[in-house]
Amino acid sequence: MKRGILKKISLPGWIFISIILGVAAGLLLKERIYSFSATIGDIFLNLLKMITLPLIFTSISTGVISVGGSKNLGRVGLKTILYYILSSLVAIVTGLLLTNTIKPGADTSFFTSSVESSSVDIQSLSIRDIILKIFTPNIFNSFAQGEMLPVIFFSLLIGFFVTRLRKKQRLLLSDILQAGFELMMKITGFILKLAPVGIFGIMAKIVSSTGLQVFGNLGKYFFTVLSGLLIHYFLSLPLIVFLFTKLNPYRHMNNMSTALLTAFSTASSSATLPVTLECAEEKSGISNKISSFVFPLGATINMDGTALYECSAAIFISQVYGIFLSIPQQIVVVLTALLASIGAAGIPMAGLVMMTVVLKSVGLPLEGIGIILAVDRILDMIRTSTNVWSDSCGALIIASSEKEVNINIYNN
Ligand code: ASP
Repeated sequence: MKRGILKKISLPGWIFISIILGVAAGLLLKERIYSFSATIGDIFLNLLKMITLPLIFTSISTGVISVGGSKNLGRVGLKTILYYILSSLVAIVTGLLLTNTIKPGADTSFFTSSVESSSVDIQSLSIRDIILKIFTPNIFNSFAQGEMLPVIFFSLLIGFFVTRLRKKQRLLLSDILQAGFELMMKITGFILKLAPVGIFGIMAKIVSSTGLQVFGNLGKYFFTVLSGLLIHYFLSLPLIVFLFTKLNPYRHMNNMSTALLTAFSTASSSATLPVTLECAEEKSGISNKISSFVFPLGATINMDGTALYECSAAIFISQVYGIFLSIPQQIVVVLTALLASIGAAGIPMAGLVMMTVVLKSVGLPLEGIGIILAVDRILDMIRTSTNVWSDSCGALIIASSEKEVNINIYNN
């Protein structure tokens, strides 16, 4: 009888339970559970990371091959990029309006003390650095270092030029890459079964080391970014999906819930990618042809949550330092926030590091990053889930426009 009930709980249900149990265990057992939980959390994360690059490589190259001739590829590619830009801009403008209205940084005296406690390693990055990251001189090194942008670029090239080979070679290489991709997805399915245990470990580790104090004095700033992210998550993106597809966006959200919860707990879109692909194809009915192309790209370059956060945080920092940003300067913030979100890797805290690009573009002090550090972990979890949700919405929109969705899933 009891077993029956346990069997009825779905994977997202288990993940949700393990998030709660992890938080509770972290709070109750504190440092006593730290090393145990860190070990199981790290094993799970390492398994995800282990599979991610082979998955990206096989997924994008087979995606490009199956999207086919250069005409289709151009069309799907263009739709993908247009969606990424549109959804990121909607996110950024939401953040811009909220931060200018709520003005969370107006009461400056409140924050000055936390500036000294900055411990983040601030490396300055420029737009040129972001672009040069794509064109690696050594692809093996990029694989070894886990650099997503060059690997994506290389996989796009492979896929594209396989379609340009003579028939015999083309079929041979397509089959090999396709078999590789299916193999990676099988391994992913296996890793996914361990998700509840791994996620328990990750949550217990975070809470046992930082407690729930992470909110600190930054309540108003936290609330501003959080509201922006929630508006984008529950209103803007569903509305965009509905306008373009007429399908029920909340059903899609429910189908993607395992991926969204995994993104929340790992704070890494790249590590979540295997789970995202699995949910999109198995639950949301998006064809492999579209998902294998759109998701790996999206996990690295489409980051609505990060874009919104970059913009809000920069405006907040200007308010804290009492630096007035004119309208043209705010437009520069919007554009660099977009670029920073494209350049940010899908790993924890990547957005925080990318803040340097935005702050530098309008001459704001880089130490401002120290102020927002305290609440970054929680915001990172929420923005990562937003990033993955936006990728999922984009994939559904593009798949639906290409008639590559199993509509029956949404009709009953
Ligand atoms: N952690 C985010 C992600 O993986 C990136 C960020 O730090 O904003 O999507």
